[in-house]
Amino acid sequence: MDATIQKISGQVDSLRNEMVAFLARLVQFSSLPGKEKAAQRFYAEKLEALGLAPEIVTSRREELQSHPAFCDDGISFDERLNVVGRWRATGNKSGKKKDAPRTLILNGHMDVVPTGSETLWSASPWSGEVKGGKLYGRGSCDMKAGLTANAFAVQALQTLGFRPAADVLLESVIGEESGGVGTLTTIVKGFRADAAIITEPTSLHACPVQSGALTFRIKVAGRAIHACMKPHGVSAIEKFYLVLQAVQELERRRHVQYKNLLYDDADNIAPISFGTIHGGDWPSTVPDQLTVEGRFGVLPAETMDDARRALAAAVARAIAVDPWLKGHPPKIEWFEGQFESGQTAVTEPIVESIQQCHAGVMGRATVLQGVTYGSDLRLFTNHGHVPAVLYGPGNIAQAHTVDEWVDLREVFSAAKVLACIITQWCGGEFA
Ligand SMILES: [Zn+2]
Repeated sequence: MDATIQKISGQVDSLRNEMVAFLARLVQFSSLPGKEKAAQRFYAEKLEALGLAPEIVTSRREELQSHPAFCDDGISFDERLNVVGRWRATGNKSGKKKDAPRTLILNGHMDVVPTGSETLWSASPWSGEVKGGKLYGRGSCDMKAGLTANAFAVQALQTLGFRPAADVLLESVIGEESGGVGTLTTIVKGFRADAAIITEPTSLHACPVQSGALTFRIKVAGRAIHACMKPHGVSAIEKFYLVLQAVQELERRRHVQYKNLLYDDADNIAPISFGTIHGGDWPSTVPDQLTVEGRFGVLPAETMDDARRALAAAVARAIAVDPWLKGHPPKIEWFEGQFESGQTAVTEPIVESIQQCHAGVMGRATVLQGVTYGSDLRLFTNHGHVPAVLYGPGNIAQAHTVDEWVDLREVFSAAKVLACIITQWCGGEFA
């Protein structure tokens, strides 16, 4: 282990108790969508204490609604605050060209998803309780652990007298779970850097690629008649079966054709799933209508239009083989969440920097991985033109679950790796 990493590691370890207390306090704020304000103020106080002069950046509908990546999540814009702190470059800027200082964003979201029935939880979802090296509560893993690691990476370096040669921005945003209003706000307001790390729970895997997801509705028509006369009517449910088969075939074929070694499961990169189904209104009536809603996975690098066309083509294939459907084509609607995929090339220097620092701190290589869920990564890569990678503490399997928890060792490790990345990426010097 090199001397810098050793110093950082020791410093983070000495801050362990403070980190745990901070994370527990963050979890105790029930920062549900639209209710993040108090937690954001608390995070801003922390950044203030670190001398990062945090700006409160308000999300305003009128500044976002014409943006192509804006997703209206229906949440009131009354109190949607984002926090951006800036650790200003004061370190030595000279040095070799290759090591030119580069700015860095460490981003995390403060919003958490609802708890579901609290009676299913072993303790209050807002307890922040620590047991057996795990910290419990809604948002502990997704992703207040990441926000904590971001702040304490800076704190550890400051305590060591480090001065960065390029700015480090700490962003705490709202609205990630419901479409990314917060990070989009920071991009629209012009916050940029040479790279961004979003400390989502990736189990400290480096994830430069994410699939997207589109929400769709398909309406299938039939012709109602008393079920005793079935051959004279048309069942919308049975006609939907043709559409279902065509969509399943599309899903299978897309996964056969698409190759991306960053995904563990080649058959589950951009799943297409039907989530709701409503049809008919009486058991002994042949149903004359059926509506399904679902989620259409967007492949990395696929455009939204191409994804929408792929579903339309699959439905058209079902129509082509059925005379009734030809005369009564199912209608496709796109609504609510429309999330692009996003990707940063694995050859980008920030990916290498994460790999190097992870290996230095952890003594083993990190896993490079693509993820099937949506995140704010796409906003940085597609709209901010900032290379971005997901890398953070906690296991995604814990996110959105009952008794959510995070392994505290990963939070400490994340802070160490992030601190190392700052020294390497931004350059600078220790006092
Ligand atoms: Zn998250």
